[in-house]
Amino acid sequence: MTRISLKKHPKLKLIEYPSAIYFLRNISNLLGVDLYIKRDDLFSLGFGGNKLRKLEYLLGEAQKKNATHIFTIGALQSNHARMTAIASKMHGFEIELFLKKSVPVTEQAYFSNGNKILNNIIDATIHQVQDNNSAYQAIAERTILLEKEGARPYVIPVGGSNALGTLGYVDCYFEILQQANDLGIRFDLITSASGSGGTHGGLVVGNALSSSKTKIKAYNVEPDEGQLAGHTLKIANEALALCGEKPNLTLENIVLSNEYSGAAYGVPEEYHIDTIKFLAKNEGIFLDPVYTSKAFTGVIMDIQNNVIKKGEKVLYIHTGGIPGIFAYPQYF
Ligand SMILES: *Cc1c(COP(=O)(O)O)cnc(C)c1O
Repeated sequence: MTRISLKKHPKLKLIEYPSAIYFLRNISNLLGVDLYIKRDDLFSLGFGGNKLRKLEYLLGEAQKKNATHIFTIGALQSNHARMTAIASKMHGFEIELFLKKSVPVTEQAYFSNGNKILNNIIDATIHQVQDNNSAYQAIAERTILLEKEGARPYVIPVGGSNALGTLGYVDCYFEILQQANDLGIRFDLITSASGSGGTHGGLVVGNALSSSKTKIKAYNVEPDEGQLAGHTLKIANEALALCGEKPNLTLENIVLSNEYSGAAYGVPEEYHIDTIKFLAKNEGIFLDPVYTSKAFTGVIMDIQNNVIKKGEKVLYIHTGGIPGIFAYPQYF
């Protein structure tokens, strides 16, 4: 029933489903839980990552509205901006990125390597801005100008995390249920990083719609005082409404850890780097320094602190960000 009401919203196809789920044998042996990983980092388009699931809906709407230009916002090394740019170019939209120098990093590579190179290769237009407010102001000004020329810009918010983008991870939740069924297992817990809330929110909505007993937990990648949980709740309820359901989620449904974010967005601590090395050496899978290393640290710490119990079946969703490794050579 859920799937039928989701079909009201047109998708632009960017992904081959499902993304693979692997069992992490060595780490599971070491830690005493059954830990699985879902490889949303391996989508073939543009170095992959979670934003593609949201962009299927967002660019689907842009296409329906006959948009000519796509605008979006992010940090200089934003994976979301890179994927939006690549998917937009492929589908004939003009792309303009409004990128913030919001991360307290001075290393040259942050400004020239990683996602910056990929944006350059596809000739994405980049406007440098101070913060979100100045980004939205610059977008408003560009919009007036372009509309005078007859163009139709479509604005995608930070991280693609509005109600429509969130539907991408509602789909993902049902994809996971099907895969678990095929594997003959039931996950006790599904985990991911959270930055702008759409990934987490979509999983929570899928979980609510399916009334399964699986727990959902996300790990915040930046310190905050409750704004992210509130925002996640808001877009999750709006997404439920888009699915034709009552928006009846409460803050209790939004389980978000703020413990492993480190001091700032875009700044990994040494223990996050240790996590990257731990997974790479044991499983041959690489995490990024901004999102997935922080969230996976949270999963490992929760196992060690017995928050995640021995013998539980846990799925970690690898949300991508790999180009970010090359923007942070000072850590490696
Ligand atoms: C954007 C991003 C996230 C966070 O997803 P949200 O839906 O914004 O919370 C996690 N991992 C990577 C690699 C990302 O680029």
